Amino acid sequence: MFHMMNEARIAVGLGAAMLGFAGYEASLDYAKTRPQGRPMGPGGKDASKPQVPIIEHADVKRMLLAQKSYCEGALALELYCARLVDELHTGDGAAKARAHLLLEVLTPIAKSWPSEWCLEANSLAIQVLGGYGYTRDFPVEQYWRDNRLNMIHEGTHGIQALDLLGRKVVMDGGAGLVALRKAIDETVGRASAAESLLPHAQALASAADHLEAATRAAWSTGSPDEALANATPYLQAFGHVVLAWIWLDVATRAVAAPVDPAQRGRLAACRYFFHHELPKVAAWLAVVETRDDTCRTMAEESF
Ligand SMILES: Cc1cc2nc3c(=O)[nH]c(=O)nc-3n(C[C@H](O)[C@H](O)[C@H](O)COP(=O)(O)OP(=O)(O)OC[C@H]3O[C@@H](n4cnc5c(N)ncnc54)[C@H](O)[C@@H]3O)c2cc1C
Repeated sequence: MFHMMNEARIAVGLGAAMLGFAGYEASLDYAKTRPQGRPMGPGGKDASKPQVPIIEHADVKRMLLAQKSYCEGALALELYCARLVDELHTGDGAAKARAHLLLEVLTPIAKSWPSEWCLEANSLAIQVLGGYGYTRDFPVEQYWRDNRLNMIHEGTHGIQALDLLGRKVVMDGGAGLVALRKAIDETVGRASAAESLLPHAQALASAADHLEAATRAAWSTGSPDEALANATPYLQAFGHVVLAWIWLDVATRAVAAPVDPAQRGRLAACRYFFHHELPKVAAWLAVVETRDDTCRTMAEESF
C-alpha cells in the first residue's frame, strides 16, 4: 500500500508541475503579444514612444521567471524521484539503499512542493493576463482551479508536513536526512568549481546547515506537540532547500554552455531562485527552531 502511495505522490507532484507549465506557456505567449505601457528608461517613461509588449516590463519578467523557476525546478525534482524509484528496482545493494533513504525524505516534497508552488505559478499566469486571466476566455483560471486539488488529495499539505517532520526525518536516527545532506554536499562541491555558481553553492550549504539545526531544535524538548506545531513552515523550508539543490545541480550542467539561450534561461531561473526564493527559508525556520507557540496556543473562543 505504501509503495503504491509513494509512487502516486510523485505522480501528483508531476501533475501539479504540468499544470504549472501549461499556465507558464500560456502566459508567456500572451506577454509576447499584449501591447501595454511604455518602457522605463534612466529618464523615466517617454509618452511619445509606442507601447511595448508587456514581456518587456521588469515586473512581468519577474512573474515569468518565478513560474519558470517553480515549474522547471518541479519537473527536474519529479524526474529525479522517478529515477530513484527505478533504482529501487534495478540498482545494486548500495544504490537501492541510497534510493530508499532519499525517497523517504523526498516523497513528501515531491508531492507537496509542486502542489503549492506550481499553483502559485498558475496564479502568476492569471496575473500576467490581467483582467483577461480572470475570465473563462483564456485557459489560465482553469489551470489554477484544477491545480488547487493537489494540495488536498493523496495526503493534504498539513499531513505531508507531519509525515516529514514527525516521521521521515527522525526515523533510523535521521538516516534519510543524512543521505540527503550527502547528495546536497556533492552538488555543492561540483558547483563550487564554477566561479559564477560559488555564491549559490555557499548559500545552499548555509541553508542546509540551518535546516539541520532547526530539525534538532524542533525536537529538542522531545515533545511532539511543540515540535510539530510548525510542521508546515518546516515542510516549506525543506522544500525550498531541496529545490535550491535541484536548481544548482541543473546549473552545474548549464554553466558549461552559457551562450545557448536555453541554458542561459536555466541559469537565470537558478539565479532567480537563489536571490528571490531561498531567503524565505530563514523566516520559515525561525518559527520552527524557536518552537513558536502562536498557533498551537490560540484559544478556540478567541477566533
Ligand atoms: C477532486 C477530489 C478527488 C478525490 N479523489 C479521491 C480518490 O480517488 N480516492 C480517495 O480515496 N480519495 C479521494 N479524494 C479524497 C481526498 O483524499 C480527501 O479529500 C483528503 O484526503 C482530505 O480529507 P478530507 O477531505 O476528509 O479533509 P480533512 O481530513 O477533514 O482535512 C481538512 C483539513 O484539516 C487538516 N487536518 C486533518 N487532520 C489533521 C491533523 N491530524 N493534524 C493537522 N491537520 C489536520 C487537513 O490538513 C486539511 O487542511 C478526493 C478529493 C477531491 C477533492
